[in-house]
Amino acid sequence: MRILVTGGAGFLGSHLCEALIARGDEVLSLDNYFTGSKENIQPFLQHPRFEAIRHDIINPIDLEVDAIYNLACPASPVHYQFDPVRTVQANVLGVTHMLELARRTKARILQASTSEVYGDPQVHPQTESYWGHVNPIGIRSCYDEGKRVAETLMMDYHRQYRVDIRIVRIFNTYGPRMAMDDGRVVSNFILQALKNQPLTIYGEGNQTRSFCYVSDMIDGMVRMMQKEKFVGPVNLGNPEEFSVLELAQKVIALTGSRSKIVRKPLPQDDPFKRRPDIRLAKEKLKWEPRIRIDEGLQKTVAYFSKLLSEGKQ
Ligand code: UDP
Repeated sequence: MRILVTGGAGFLGSHLCEALIARGDEVLSLDNYFTGSKENIQPFLQHPRFEAIRHDIINPIDLEVDAIYNLACPASPVHYQFDPVRTVQANVLGVTHMLELARRTKARILQASTSEVYGDPQVHPQTESYWGHVNPIGIRSCYDEGKRVAETLMMDYHRQYRVDIRIVRIFNTYGPRMAMDDGRVVSNFILQALKNQPLTIYGEGNQTRSFCYVSDMIDGMVRMMQKEKFVGPVNLGNPEEFSVLELAQKVIALTGSRSKIVRKPLPQDDPFKRRPDIRLAKEKLKWEPRIRIDEGLQKTVAYFSKLLSEGKQ
């Protein structure tokens, strides 16, 4: 199989490329390197079944492929809010271009959607049937509404043109190869703890998230791509829920850090609670996360310690 991974040099994209190469597929990574990095794909850049192209999906591209994983979009709030218009365009123009490519080549296409389609949810845990609670005009809307319209485009290409689609809704995921400047809670806390700097809790720290280790997420995505007669959307995430304060305490304990905790203002529209209901993924994909938070955090701490010891900041 010749598989296109858009966002292939990103955090999830690079792990996905690696897993697909290991399975024997031919992998084409496409990335504009806004948040992705060449270092992420360095380990397999010379592999004979891997190829990388610099391209932004907001412009059309014509390729011959058998399957498409569409991951291209900045996913961390600091990055998707940097150029919000472009974030919307990645999800409208970019997704349309990928769907046109899928339509012409008859490739199956999997869209990396997000728990953000549920917004600041009023139903807990979140099931796929929940329509969400999203501010259409806030600072997170470029991503939330962008990803929602991306799902709409996927469903309409499926109904109107019979494009073979899959939709996964990805909940918070962490692990090695997260960008150091990602601004996410897991990478921020680990880096702050390793540098003995204060851990920055936004708001009171009683907002919750559920953190999935990257290898579990990739496994779920590949299973969904292979699943017949099920388009989704399906939630992928780890249902173990922690408050941001609990996470800070865990990271401090795990790293043996001298860091204290400081409070910063809570960003606008920051969801208060988030936990996936993964019954559908269990039933349809026989999937559930295997890596518990302590093990996953240890692996991520080891990754960031190595980067810091190499002088990266
Ligand atoms: N957060 C925090 N300190 C940080 C970074 C994030 O307290 O240094 C909080 C943030 O306000 C949110 C949660 O952690 O409530 C998860 O934030 P992240 O940006 O990782 O992901 P998302 O909000 O997209 O789930």
